[in-house]
Amino acid sequence: MIGTAVAGLAAAGIAAHGAWHRNSVVFGPVLTRLPGDEPVVSITFDDGPNPRATPRVLDVLRREGVRATFFFLGRHVERWPELVRRAALDGHQLGNHGYYHRKLHRRSPGFVRDDLTRGTEQIVRASGVRPRHFRAPHGFRSPWVTPIAASLGQRTVGWSLGVWDSARPGADVIAARALEGMHAGSILLLHDGDGYDPAGDRIQTAEALPAILDGLRRRGFRFTTLPD
Ligand SMILES: [Zn+2]
Repeated sequence: MIGTAVAGLAAAGIAAHGAWHRNSVVFGPVLTRLPGDEPVVSITFDDGPNPRATPRVLDVLRREGVRATFFFLGRHVERWPELVRRAALDGHQLGNHGYYHRKLHRRSPGFVRDDLTRGTEQIVRASGVRPRHFRAPHGFRSPWVTPIAASLGQRTVGWSLGVWDSARPGADVIAARALEGMHAGSILLLHDGDGYDPAGDRIQTAEALPAILDGLRRRGFRFTTLPD
């Protein structure tokens, strides 16, 4: 059945790159923006927890009274479960980012299921929370990634706006890009961790966060977590 679907896509001439794109619906439905026209936005973080950046991010969110969504990586959850527990206790939404942080578009169904299941288990073990959202590393999917996430009770999520904060362009640049690109319903992608280096430096993102939250509020935006 899946083989037939792949052959069908190829026959239809759908460019593979487009299908793998984070917001493409070719490989199943993906949440790319919030429903409705309200001036609300969602702040999401990938690749944490990280021992330096995540506590600072959580401090800022607590001080500002903002709830965000963290797509935690199982491999890092295993090392710093207390940060995941704290995010849950602070009222944030916990999402699954898998365990290994491999690009999933060329991986077998067995690999994908194992990766997503291990990621889920780490988050449950650390926090008692069963994640209801999944974001693929780099947004790369195949015909079976979204159905496997759905079978685990997780809605696949993309993003509206990425600001390349992981390239560390400076906190001012990160904040400016976020404020320029946000619209009603936007889902902002930030990184409180590094998908490959557990101790990777994401302090610039934490430093940019107060200006992002303040600037968005000045523009009339409110903050919300992701719908189920
Ligand atoms: Zn990632």
